[in-house]
Amino acid sequence: MLIETFTVGMLSTNCYVVNNPQTKEAIIIDPGLDLPIQAQQVFEYITKEKLKVKLIVNTHGHQDHISGDTIFQEKYNVPIYIHKYDSLWLENLKKTKYPAPILLEDNSLINFGEESLKVMLTPGHTPGSICLIGEKLVFTGDTLFARGIGRTDFHGSSIDDMKVSLQKLMHLPDYFLIYPGHGPSSTVIEEKRSNPFLNSDNSF
Ligand SMILES: [Zn+2]
Ligand SMILES: [Zn+2]
Repeated sequence: MLIETFTVGMLSTNCYVVNNPQTKEAIIIDPGLDLPIQAQQVFEYITKEKLKVKLIVNTHGHQDHISGDTIFQEKYNVPIYIHKYDSLWLENLKKTKYPAPILLEDNSLINFGEESLKVMLTPGHTPGSICLIGEKLVFTGDTLFARGIGRTDFHGSSIDDMKVSLQKLMHLPDYFLIYPGHGPSSTVIEEKRSNPFLNSDNSF
């Protein structure tokens, strides 16, 4: 599984293009760009690598993660995957001529090429926030960042749910790589050591 990171939009969202080097099938995670021009670097990468884009996944429904959905959907004519609890953010997409959104649930599998990512529902930041679990890595959206976590003060956020979700993530193997929705990547062991929100004596 090859991962290319593009930092896009005003909130510096990590947009990931994930592909299987054998089959060249690819997915796009969180194309949160503000302007069509910002998609150009991603288009060029996909063309250069001869990738076949199969689908787009949103780790949750916030604008800084979904705002480029339509730009990529128009280009590749592929469906958008999102957890059903966050699907209201995609309301306006239902009327388009492009494939309808695919609504994910906990433990849904996202398959492309010979790769598979498993959906882990991790509510807290939003009700339908998901993490995507691969063989040795996890995409954590705005649930977990390197040394931080996503905000829990939005409408629909829940601090209690967030605590449970973070515990679920910390049950992943220590060597797992973490690819967050913003900021640098990390590992499970590194977050256990250094993330103040995962420290048991810290009540956030
Ligand atoms: Zn968010
Ligand atoms: Zn975000």
